[in-house]
Amino acid sequence: MITDEYARTFASVNDRIGQLRESGFYTFEQPFTAAPGGRSEIDSREVIMLTSGNYLGLVGHPEINKAVKEALDTYGSGACGARLNNGTTRLHLELEERLAEWMGTEAALTYSSGYLANLGTISALCDADTVVITDQFNHMSILDGCRLAEGSVKIFAHNSMEKLEYVLQRNADAAKKFVVVDGVYSMDGEIAPLDEIHRLTERYGALLMVDEAHGTGFLGANGRGAGEHFGLVPDITMGTFSKTLGGVGGFVTASHDIVEFLRHSAHAYMFNASLPAPTVAGVLKALELMRREPWRTEKLWENTMRFRSGLIRLGFEVMGSVTPVIPILIGDDETALRMSKELMADGLYVSGAIYPAVPKGKARFRATVTAAMTSEDVDSAVALLGDAARRHNVLA
Ligand code: PMP
Repeated sequence: MITDEYARTFASVNDRIGQLRESGFYTFEQPFTAAPGGRSEIDSREVIMLTSGNYLGLVGHPEINKAVKEALDTYGSGACGARLNNGTTRLHLELEERLAEWMGTEAALTYSSGYLANLGTISALCDADTVVITDQFNHMSILDGCRLAEGSVKIFAHNSMEKLEYVLQRNADAAKKFVVVDGVYSMDGEIAPLDEIHRLTERYGALLMVDEAHGTGFLGANGRGAGEHFGLVPDITMGTFSKTLGGVGGFVTASHDIVEFLRHSAHAYMFNASLPAPTVAGVLKALELMRREPWRTEKLWENTMRFRSGLIRLGFEVMGSVTPVIPILIGDDETALRMSKELMADGLYVSGAIYPAVPKGKARFRATVTAAMTSEDVDSAVALLGDAARRHNVLA
């Protein structure tokens, strides 16, 4: 029965969404009708894709499609079971071996999403004896993992090494300390100062977990992410298959002991159906292609530099981004939504972030550049953004 109390709860969100829908500026959940390449289609209309995690442009690669189809014919669309029971195939085991090899660690474990990888790993490793220490801007899946943790949670100010050290010092006597951060911050595109964070976790005896969802594929000589960018291997690296690797699913790489423990303790692993084998086959092929086609990483960085310098030349504020994740500050929510809608009609898809996802007055576009974009796509995207911003007085 839906009581008044429930109705009020639903209205607390739905009223604002209703207003957005009525005003015609609700731009979420557009029906895409093609793969997320440099260009895609919304309702069969072509758009330049300026928001997708397909960083290396691997989605739709013929070799990946072939691998997925072959696995589909062999294993079917799903195993209908959890990994510990009937949900493991040879492909799952091979993928875990390849992931560990890629990351230079002893072992790896896959989950059915990146979100679950954070939830399962953090909640399993942070028992009542653990102090869990996390950056205030970490991804929601990390924050939700911390909520599930039994230990006490301490949040430090974004990227403040002083605050992190203060928390570590204050909890020096805790039996276990666990620090978890994003390698690349998904809203601002900055890289975490992992060299300093690692120095502190080593000094204070804390386990370090880094979420490399955005860094894998293009940071570090082997594309291992922000850890490799700084020349270090965190105790636990978490990553996702839903961005550079063009599929869906998540993983952690770590020592044999940690992985063995998680396999038999992380609820999100033990009590969740396994990834479908065709998805696993696609990710395995993507891992291979990532190494075999290094031009993709070069093209990604070339596009990133071209796009960022184009925006800065026009006068946009890109908020210190140094990666292919590039925020473009717009200001108020309504302008961002209007612009987003108009840009879609102009043939450019870029997702907007408004309050409460970002602070009031800091509405922005969250652009992501990919290797699938041509230089012309990048230039057109800059020009379209510039025109829209001038129409709305965001740029002079
Ligand atoms: N961590 C970060 C930093 C992310 O950006 C995301 C996804 N946006 C996730 C974890 C969750 O990964 P997935 O979407 O594969 O579940």
